[in-house]
Amino acid sequence: MQSKGYAARDATSSLGPFSFERRDPGAKDVVVEIAFSGICHSDIHQVRDEWGGSIYPMVPGHEIVGRVTAVGAEVSKFKVGDLAGVGVTVETCLACENCRAGAEPYCLQGMVGTYNAKTYGGEPTYGGYANNIVAPEHYVYSISPKLELAAVAPLLCAGITTWSPLRHWGVTKGKKAGIVGLGGLGHMGLKFAHSLGAETTLFTTSESKAADAKRLGADEVVVTKDKNAMKKHAGKFDFVLDCVSAPHDLNEYLGLLRLDGTLCQVGLPDQPLPVSGFSLVKNRRSLSGSMIGGMKETQEMLDYCAEKNIVSDIEMTTFDQLDEAYERVVKGDVKYRFVIDVRSLG
Ligand code: NAP
Ligand code: ZN
Repeated sequence: MQSKGYAARDATSSLGPFSFERRDPGAKDVVVEIAFSGICHSDIHQVRDEWGGSIYPMVPGHEIVGRVTAVGAEVSKFKVGDLAGVGVTVETCLACENCRAGAEPYCLQGMVGTYNAKTYGGEPTYGGYANNIVAPEHYVYSISPKLELAAVAPLLCAGITTWSPLRHWGVTKGKKAGIVGLGGLGHMGLKFAHSLGAETTLFTTSESKAADAKRLGADEVVVTKDKNAMKKHAGKFDFVLDCVSAPHDLNEYLGLLRLDGTLCQVGLPDQPLPVSGFSLVKNRRSLSGSMIGGMKETQEMLDYCAEKNIVSDIEMTTFDQLDEAYERVVKGDVKYRFVIDVRSLG
């Protein structure tokens, strides 16, 4: 199958047009003509090889929405013309205990990412900055026509990555939740924590985002450089979700936790973050992490969003503006997720 998109050729150059082939759809595969593709900070980490091991040429993109143009003979959930989405995962073993528990990102044989990865068969995967994608039905989601399609794209990564830990750690009415960092993940974290009924506080380095944070669901906003405000909130939180993309002091956020509270790391800075034992033993705190979410819970999140009318706040961009979009994401200056209009491929 012929595809065209935008690719990074190395860690330092701008992305440029790229033609490539995808496998022809098999019996279990769905082909999606891509309409919109979100820009996740993980795209930038990987394009720039900040995590190491990047594979080039790289077609990034794992927040993918569009319409089904073909289905294999054994596909039952989709027909041609349906709206559909693809997220971060395109292959897992589906047989190990984690897969069977619906926790496919933690597949014991390894999860194959939508891009910058190799399939079990050894083929490179190419992501959503492209006109089409082919993926097994198991990794394709149904999307409600009730929602604005472009604003659904970020739910496939930023949405599920915040939804999954909020649900796993039981964030709900009567709980006090903190969200750290108001970017793509953080703004979905605020929307979901608020919608699930928790008393929600945003911790930010950007004073200018306070009004937006309240509109997005924060009951309170704390600017983290205000050390008195941080002290006032110490020991008060059941759960804190850390969505920060750059190195920062985890001990400050561990200090926010009450007895048995959990700090969950979803942000993936390129450097290890030192943790003091004293930050953990006090209040019997837990430090944890979470990676995207399983296929079933992703569909549940999308269905919840359709029911509650929740989407991402997006800024639309085009392929020729990618450099600028990346720079603005790195500066923390995006409100609150860029989405590429794939028609701009031409
Ligand atoms: P993003 O839109 O760039 O948001 C990151 C936010 O972090 C910024 O808006 C900023 O918020 C804050 N920040 C940035 N630099 C900071 C610094 N030096 N100190 C403190 N705060 C800083 O990124 P994203 O797309 O939401 O992704 C966030 C992170 O999650 C990335 O590392 C990404 O790779 C990772 N990620 C992980 C998963 C997973 O499965 N675990 C999935 C997707 C993404 P304020 O302006 O409010 O401070
Ligand atoms: Zn992502």
